[in-house]
Amino acid sequence: MSLLKAESPHTMNTYGRLPVAMSHGKGVRLWDVNGKCYLDALAGIAVNTLGHGHPKLVPALQEQVAKMMHCCNYYHIPDQERLAAKLAELAGMTNTFFCSSGLEANEAAIKLARKFGHDKGISNPQIIVYEKAFHGRSLATLSATGNTKIQKGFEPLVEGFIRVPLNDIQAIEAATKDNPNVVAVFFETIQGEGGINPMHKDYLQEVRALCDKRDWLLMIDEVQCGMGRTGKWFAHQWAGIKPDVMPLAKGLGSGVPIGAVVAGPRAAHIFQPGNHGTTFGGNPLAMRAGVETIRIIEEDALLDNAVVVGNHLKEELTKNVGHLKGVKEIRAFGLMIGIELDVPCSIIMSQALEAGLLLSVTADSVIRLVPPLILSTKEADEIISILVPLIKAFLDEHFDSKSSSHQNLTMQKEKA
Ligand SMILES: *Cc1c(COP(=O)(O)O)cnc(C)c1O
Repeated sequence: MSLLKAESPHTMNTYGRLPVAMSHGKGVRLWDVNGKCYLDALAGIAVNTLGHGHPKLVPALQEQVAKMMHCCNYYHIPDQERLAAKLAELAGMTNTFFCSSGLEANEAAIKLARKFGHDKGISNPQIIVYEKAFHGRSLATLSATGNTKIQKGFEPLVEGFIRVPLNDIQAIEAATKDNPNVVAVFFETIQGEGGINPMHKDYLQEVRALCDKRDWLLMIDEVQCGMGRTGKWFAHQWAGIKPDVMPLAKGLGSGVPIGAVVAGPRAAHIFQPGNHGTTFGGNPLAMRAGVETIRIIEEDALLDNAVVVGNHLKEELTKNVGHLKGVKEIRAFGLMIGIELDVPCSIIMSQALEAGLLLSVTADSVIRLVPPLILSTKEADEIISILVPLIKAFLDEHFDSKSSSHQNLTMQKEKA
């Protein structure tokens, strides 16, 4: 594949692509066009919930493609009703709007919050957002995002956001004191792109109480951490709370583009006909993908699997690299795992690719694993057997004399 350059001749230069083209997949494995096999610990960035070519999903989608893919929202779409009812049941919420991506779901959430404010006479509504947050790349969602690299070059930003640090309830109190224009708090339960940073259970409960007290909407972006990844349907459920608004996307369609914003009673009836809409959103193919993804997660007990296999990965990583100098922290929540190093390590992504493992490095120094929820313990061990030596070799180079494997080497030399 020597012809594959980072920049391609006819697509816009928006990604620094790795020099490989994928051809097809089966389970947690992908093959490139040259026939090389990779273990997929990235799942297309937390999208391929059921891995590749799932034997229960494929025939259902084939049938749906033949039956009808699109008809538009002028008409009732029965599978929208089915999927919305299922999401309401799983989330303990009530009504859903469907779209086609994560940023669209977040854009809808931001519009809901603003209209919630306008409906109660607030003409300049403001939304609390977070440091290191990622909500997408439309103008409103990149403005809500807490990363100046993503915003640079696209100013002026959309206004109406107040930024606070994570897990600090006093910081919200201080930032909103005597401000009657605040309408919502908006965050990811576990920040994905920001480096696998969790909101703590206590904090989630405190923010829920604060939203109730101040009549704000609690809006939780579960685009990456939702859909079973942490072992509950939605990551905030570990804290026993419910949001008022919950954007979803990524894993919901197991690869078919889909987004959804789920609302509870306080936000379910804010939008009226004419307030919001989309051509593709809620189309029969995407809805079928959502319905089947949830059905298969339930049938195959994949929430439990995410906990069991996720814990196994966490234990193995902790045992094998947790003690090494240069490993700052291992943060693992089911099958959403970040290994934070002390130094930037984006090179590990291409080293892993070469070694036959797909993963990503986010926030410069966090190795991220978000594999398909079908991952078995045996396959997890294969990931470990490739990843551990890579991390050790990387740290050896950076912390010459200090890391343990190098120490072993020196000790052997000293003995000899
Ligand atoms: C990926 C992501 C988005 C954006 O989703 P797109 O489908 O890329 O628009 C928004 N929020 C979170 C938490 C994400 O991980």
